[in-house]
Amino acid sequence: MNASLQPLAGQAETLKLLIGGQWVQSQTQQWQDVVNPATQQILGRVPFATAGEIDAAVNAAQRAFASWRNTPVGARMRIMLKLQALIREHSPRIAKVLSAEQGKTLADAEGDIFRGLEVVEHACSIGSLQMGEHLENVAGGVDTYTLRQPIGVCVGITPFNFPAMIPLWMFPMAIVCGNTFVLKPSEQDPMSTALLVELALQAGIPAGVLNMVHGGKEVVDALCTHPQVKAVSFVGSTAVGTHVYDLAGQHGKRVQAMMGAKNHAVVLPDANREQTVNALVGAAFGAAGQRCMATSVAVLVGAAGEWVADLKALAQKLKVSAGHEPGTDVGPVVSKQAKARVLSLIDSGVAEGAVLELDGRGVQVPGYEEGNFIGPTLFSGVRTDMRIYKEEIFGPVLLVLCVDTFDEAIALVNANPFGNGTGLFTQSGAAARKFQNEIDVGQVGINIPIPVPVPFFSFTGSRGSKLGDLGPYGKQVVQFYTQTKTVTSRWFDDDSVNTGVNTTIHLR
Ligand code: NAD
Repeated sequence: MNASLQPLAGQAETLKLLIGGQWVQSQTQQWQDVVNPATQQILGRVPFATAGEIDAAVNAAQRAFASWRNTPVGARMRIMLKLQALIREHSPRIAKVLSAEQGKTLADAEGDIFRGLEVVEHACSIGSLQMGEHLENVAGGVDTYTLRQPIGVCVGITPFNFPAMIPLWMFPMAIVCGNTFVLKPSEQDPMSTALLVELALQAGIPAGVLNMVHGGKEVVDALCTHPQVKAVSFVGSTAVGTHVYDLAGQHGKRVQAMMGAKNHAVVLPDANREQTVNALVGAAFGAAGQRCMATSVAVLVGAAGEWVADLKALAQKLKVSAGHEPGTDVGPVVSKQAKARVLSLIDSGVAEGAVLELDGRGVQVPGYEEGNFIGPTLFSGVRTDMRIYKEEIFGPVLLVLCVDTFDEAIALVNANPFGNGTGLFTQSGAAARKFQNEIDVGQVGINIPIPVPVPFFSFTGSRGSKLGDLGPYGKQVVQFYTQTKTVTSRWFDDDSVNTGVNTTIHLR
């Protein structure tokens, strides 16, 4: 294997850039450590690529496009078949790296990889996904059909919280459609992403078709403004996503930006109490609350307001420890800065008068005293004007608001600036139908706390959670990564017949 790194070999590894099929050492002066958030061990060093290196990566992708776009669909599909087999085979090894650099539990790291693997499996259906439409005889001897052609160099910019799943949302679908790709993973945990890219090369993706660069804002801005880049897929926070959408849009790129969230679970009193409490606690505190689809607000309707004590009792049983420790439920948050931000938000909630039912601020984890741990934290008595409600916390913090009626709950969710995911817990089909109809949120779960769609559908979002009309994976992403061309053709039955000049718009 043309390894870019030998992760966890005991010493910090230097990440390389992948440009035109070669792993190259960056010439940059700017480096950042990749740090294990449970131990502070330095696992790797990530370069912030230079302007010349970014240019070289995009140029390599542009050169590779000329032949890749004409590679038969079956050949592209077979590479994806190989890639899915390789990811399956190497998942336990990649999960160890992912857990070490990101903090999530080993089981959750395998889940992160698996949800991305499902997209690679879906990419294997590209033959039918990329088919155009054909209608014969739209006029005398005239047929119309569409071609879905690749668009060129596409870019992916990904966040820290799913270093496997989200890169796999992007590059397999872009490449299988016939595009070439430059991937810029999160600088906080790029090592597991690099392993997936290595597998992609091993699967047979030709030199230059997939490139990888590292860095932060400057690298992202250079990619968003590069004249040869045709499309940008972004997943991350709302502030950065809005910047990327505006900048890349101003430079004529197609952009899809999946962004921040404040996901509400609405609980009706007729819901199954035990199952609902289990679901809320898992969805709020799993991955230390660092999922864009984490449940961060529970809206308890009427008598369900009495369930706060159940939430507290279950949340305080969760085991907080390093992701690789057996039985861990809640790992560390990704960095010291992230921990400081979450703690300051918890402080603000206390200062603004919310009731701190469960306080995770002082949690001690024996053996991991340096880790970025925050224990499950539960607030009740939350008002919508508090900072903890208005901002995305992205930590293991669940807010509880109580309302009298279902209509009030729906109005509350729809008034929130974000619209990523939501859930309704009930045993009433009528309530479920009303909710799915009236709620203005992209992903809706009925008795499902984290309703991330499988790849046959597309991920979506409303309001501050998404910009651009086409989402990742599913049918929508094939539209995003292709240009539809409409061909209208006439073949005369007899070329010798003179049809004369026709100056009207009609074809007949
Ligand atoms: P982030 O916005 O800080 O970073 C995302 C990417 O943008 C990274 O690659 C980073 O290097 C780059 N970046 C950071 N600052 C930048 C700047 N000023 N200019 C240009 N690029 C910049 O996000 P994060 O902290 O890595 O991830 C967490 C966020 O992602 C949360 O808000 C979460 O809700 C969101 N998220 C959304 C989805 C979704 O599908 N809607 C999925 C996962 C995560």
